[in-house]
Amino acid sequence: MSAKTPITVAYGDGIGPEIMSATLDVLNAAGAQLDIEVIEVGEKVYLAGNPAGIAASAWESLRRTKVFLKAPITTPQGGGYKSLNVTTRTALGLYANVRPCVSYAPYVQTKHPVMDVVIVRENEEDVYGGIEYQQTHQMTQALKLISRPGSERIIRYAFEYARRNNRRKVTCFTKDNILKLTDGLFHKMFDEIAKEYPEIEHEHWIVDIGAAKLADTPESFDVLVLPNLYGDILSDVAAQITGSVGLAGSANIGEICSMFEAIHGSAPRRAGQNIANPSGLMLGSIMMLVHVRQTDVAARFHNAWLRTIEDGIHTYDIFREGTSKQKVGTKEFAAAVIARLGEKPQHLKPASYKDVALEKSPSFKTMATDPRKKALVGVDVYLDWSEGTAEELGSALSRVSANGLELKAILNRGSRVWPKGLPETLCTDQWRCRFQAKDGAEISHAQIAELLQRVAAAGFDFIQTESLCTFDGRPEFSGIPGE
Ligand code: NAD
Repeated sequence: MSAKTPITVAYGDGIGPEIMSATLDVLNAAGAQLDIEVIEVGEKVYLAGNPAGIAASAWESLRRTKVFLKAPITTPQGGGYKSLNVTTRTALGLYANVRPCVSYAPYVQTKHPVMDVVIVRENEEDVYGGIEYQQTHQMTQALKLISRPGSERIIRYAFEYARRNNRRKVTCFTKDNILKLTDGLFHKMFDEIAKEYPEIEHEHWIVDIGAAKLADTPESFDVLVLPNLYGDILSDVAAQITGSVGLAGSANIGEICSMFEAIHGSAPRRAGQNIANPSGLMLGSIMMLVHVRQTDVAARFHNAWLRTIEDGIHTYDIFREGTSKQKVGTKEFAAAVIARLGEKPQHLKPASYKDVALEKSPSFKTMATDPRKKALVGVDVYLDWSEGTAEELGSALSRVSANGLELKAILNRGSRVWPKGLPETLCTDQWRCRFQAKDGAEISHAQIAELLQRVAAAGFDFIQTESLCTFDGRPEFSGIPGE
């Protein structure tokens, strides 16, 4: 047997310690060659006054082993605690979150007996930067960030995953009918990268109808690639409709480090009762074994797990009278899996990792660059103002400009309210005031700086500015409704 693979393990909070012990028992009995370093993360670390939930020594272990098997943790409510999951994913560059959601009918009751969907969720961008502001008394704002290299990397990962695992189709969900630039970029990158994988079918759905279709007819999907927020929500939906959220594991893959976990949380109400289903973490640990190239052990563990499920030995969450044979606790479930090591399922498809190219982290060096010429053509100045109507603001601001920049429009929550606004539009105290050169020509930063000085001198409170840019002459900023 080969040398042991060093890994870092965190037992987590709530049901975490129970499902981790169960998982490690099976890994051990299955012959996994692992050299385990245990770290403390989560609730205890947060409550000891560390707002990140992880100590410096734990980072050292993660950077040394590069493989993290993590039980779920509890993020204390409120009080400036940062989600450790988000921190770990971004700090270690774990850009791809892979979540297989599989039905085990007729052994686990589900409305969707032929479901076998892998969700590849972008893990670092979108609204998960957690960049938020209280801008005015009435308005809060969150930033959604979608980058070209971030999108390219995750979409390429999804196609590579499909190719390596003999999958036939990759589907992308976005909301690019509304978010034309952010989700639009993700969709555009998807169409571009799909061309490099002609043997794999590809399709795009608007996320709302796509989600409805996924919940109704999951068998029509294969691999899904989704921006972070949609992926977060839909992977829970997809796992739950297989029978239980407790049944899905996930891999968080980066170029250097990787983290493996269950998709569910720490379920504090179920803690300490030996009732939680350890399957999600077990399946996550099987993904880890494939990742560290212990594929024979992965198959041995996976097949014993499938056989246990098939034999009707079920934890409470999937136990159904008539379908299940025996209701067991966490420890007993692990013992049942151990007792079946070396066996294969008789009806469910056995796991085999022989033909699967190894789940190594692909390194994508050829990030697409954007050769288009960028030009500054205007500025949106956001004001905190509650002293009158849109008409009054329009005439006051028209007098303020006149340094080569002209007030083109005022918008409130995305609706044009000046000129020619409608009295029905609800106006808040946050106003977006668009200034551009009269003829739409290029402008300078000096003009913007001068404009802001004039705006401030006239007594207005500006809270944000956004530069308006064209790329090869094409405006790449949201237009004014009605223009
Ligand atoms: P949760 O996933 O912990 O639990 C929701 C419900 O799902 C539970 O009450 C339980 O009925 C069921 N459930 C979940 N896992 C199960 C299992 N293994 N076996 C049987 N039933 C199971 O979601 P939550 O209650 O929203 O979150 C609880 C805590 O977990 C929060 O502090 C949250 O921040 C954290 N969380 C952590 C992670 C993570 O560490 N990766 C992920 C999600 C949530």
